[in-house]
Amino acid sequence: MSDMNLVVVGAAGRMGQTLIRAIHASRGARLAGAVERAGSPWLGHDAGELAGVGILNVPISDDPLAVFAKADGVVDFTAPAASVEFAGYAAQARIVHVIGTTGCSAEDDAAIKAAARHATIVKSGNMSLGVNLLSVLVRQAAVALEAADFDIEVLEMHHRHKVDAPSGTALLLGEAAAKGRGVSLHEESVRVRDGHTGPRPEGAIGFATLRGGSVVGEHSVILAGEGERIVLSHHAEDRSLFARGAVKAALWARGRKPGLYSMLDVLGIPG
Ligand code: NAD
Repeated sequence: MSDMNLVVVGAAGRMGQTLIRAIHASRGARLAGAVERAGSPWLGHDAGELAGVGILNVPISDDPLAVFAKADGVVDFTAPAASVEFAGYAAQARIVHVIGTTGCSAEDDAAIKAAARHATIVKSGNMSLGVNLLSVLVRQAAVALEAADFDIEVLEMHHRHKVDAPSGTALLLGEAAAKGRGVSLHEESVRVRDGHTGPRPEGAIGFATLRGGSVVGEHSVILAGEGERIVLSHHAEDRSLFARGAVKAALWARGRKPGLYSMLDVLGIPG
């Protein structure tokens, strides 16, 4: 089979540049296009040169429709409104769309789901094998340890530039815990605590967010009982981890029927 032609949207971003390097290093994929927002100072620059892998003759464009027309897939770590727009274009072009963007609202997710009628979409708050495996362990722990005996808290830390909280990964792990407990995360989660909060509600799934420095991503799910505590953790040391996962997802999705898939599907881990 010929190499998969991939477009990186948000090409000048932290993840965008990491994705360009990952595609360049991958077998079976090639960089076919690069897109940035209108007004970006990087428009017209060569995507390979910007990402530090040398000239690839792929100029950064602000015209996603024209670039998608020549591609087999799009890899997208941008912002919620942009990812919704790109999902619509991927549906029009009937291509693969891998979405790593976090912070999507329920309306954004509904729009992406609608686009998945025509596009083959893989969306995950975390593209690493480790976190997806961890989510399965969290769900098992939540099944085994009853809400009356064990409190669940999700703690995360990221670099100072991150704009959404809790992180997509923290929410993914919270969802896994809620699934294990058979409850709705939306109804049971406590996302902020401040002032006189009263005692902890039984069964709540709590979140705590730290921001600072250059931390790539630290997550711990704490199951706290009387006299003992289980801590399930993941430490991301380098964002190339997420980029490699995203390229793997794109290659996996090639030729699959349209739909909305998760990283658990890609990795073949029973959800
Ligand atoms: P960043 O701010 O460095 O990069 C985002 C880029 O997207 C910017 O260059 C911006 O100009 C571009 N962009 C925004 N709107 C656009 C549009 N309409 N068209 C084209 N480009 C547009 O951010 P980042 O650290 O690279 O993170 C990006 C997203 O990926 C965030 O939501 C982050 O949480 C998420 N993320 C997910 C994972 C995962 O495994 N799922 C891992 C890391 C980061």
